[in-house]
Amino acid sequence: MYKAIGYAAQSHQTPLEPFHFERRELLPDDVQIDILFCGVCHSDIHQARNEWGSSTFPIVPGHEIVGKVTQVGSAVQGFAIGDSVGVGCMVDACRQCPDCQDHLEQYCNHAVFTYNSPDKHTGNSTYGGYSNSIVVDQHFVLKISNTLDLAATAPLLCAGITTYSPLMHWKIAAGDKVGVVGLGGLGHMAVKFAHALGAHVVLFTTSPDKIDDAKRLGANEVVISKHPEEMNAHLASFDFILNTVAAPHNLDAYTALLKRDGTLCLVGVPDQPHPSPAIGQLIFKRRSIAGSLIGGIKETQEMLDFCAEHQITSDIEIIPIQQINAAYERVLKSDVKYRFVIDMASLAVEA
Ligand code: NAP
Ligand code: ZN
Ligand code: ZN
Repeated sequence: MYKAIGYAAQSHQTPLEPFHFERRELLPDDVQIDILFCGVCHSDIHQARNEWGSSTFPIVPGHEIVGKVTQVGSAVQGFAIGDSVGVGCMVDACRQCPDCQDHLEQYCNHAVFTYNSPDKHTGNSTYGGYSNSIVVDQHFVLKISNTLDLAATAPLLCAGITTYSPLMHWKIAAGDKVGVVGLGGLGHMAVKFAHALGAHVVLFTTSPDKIDDAKRLGANEVVISKHPEEMNAHLASFDFILNTVAAPHNLDAYTALLKRDGTLCLVGVPDQPHPSPAIGQLIFKRRSIAGSLIGGIKETQEMLDFCAEHQITSDIEIIPIQQINAAYERVLKSDVKYRFVIDMASLAVEA
């Protein structure tokens, strides 16, 4: 084991604070990474505060990790010291079940998440990217093009793949009418991807001050979701709507906007359930409500390559780690443009 430093919450009621801990020494398949940047996902807040009821403490959040390779194990191929790499929400899976064989490790019953999961090798909890270093099996490490800004690439590892994967699964293409609900970390990536795929993109927001940004990011139209007349103008017209909202709300307002056979895909994970949907609204136009979880490692690499090709990254606000608790409060107020990214060089003063 070797010493690492990060920021952890010691309980669901305490702020994140400096935390000294140990990481495993390199196994033959492992890559050791010096973490340069880590994005701040709303899921980090849900879990640091145990809003999903599944957190173990201390918890070191962070699953939007980019950095440089510092060491490779004896069996590692394709990664060398100095390479720019990323780690997302998963660091292992069973590798044998039908989900793993289909390159959909995120749905594996034995997926090991980057934090708050039992580490297969040490039995300890996994600790995430709000830290200076991490050791990850090569099969769960992503390659990052040197043409992308590293800090702005970090959020692609969760916000990026979580929005790219459903757009691919529902085969969004030029000419489709696509809605995105919520302009936060996930939502702003969804707008960029749907626009890059050639869709007609409509952004639904509760924040009128985000209208200009939404258009700059690629939305063709912006609807203030609190205004019924603006919503009604889009009745029964969407092929697909991706809902990224982190709080419970009435889904009927969105299913009513789907065409026959349209899908409302939920990616937000509120701590309380949404009110029940009006079933008749689904039945009479064969509409679906679906969900989607991040994306597999193969698709995450494809998404990163798509981003390099189209020069897509996240719009970010860089913070030192000492500002993480204040950043959480701003995310909860939908006041971030559009993802906080921690500059891990700021950890040096805690060493
Ligand atoms: P975020 O940056 O906080 O964005 C959420 C956006 O939702 C806000 O910016 C806001 O947009 C809107 N919103 C917030 N409260 C609302 C309310 N009460 N009613 C309506 N709209 C509201 O969060 P994020 O990091 O994008 O994450 C969003 C959700 O996805 C979280 O629940 C997170 O845990 C989940 N998530 C899921 C996956 C997955 O694999 N499925 C992966 C990552 C994250 P406007 O200001 O535009 O209204
Ligand atoms: Zn996330
Ligand atoms: Zn599996």
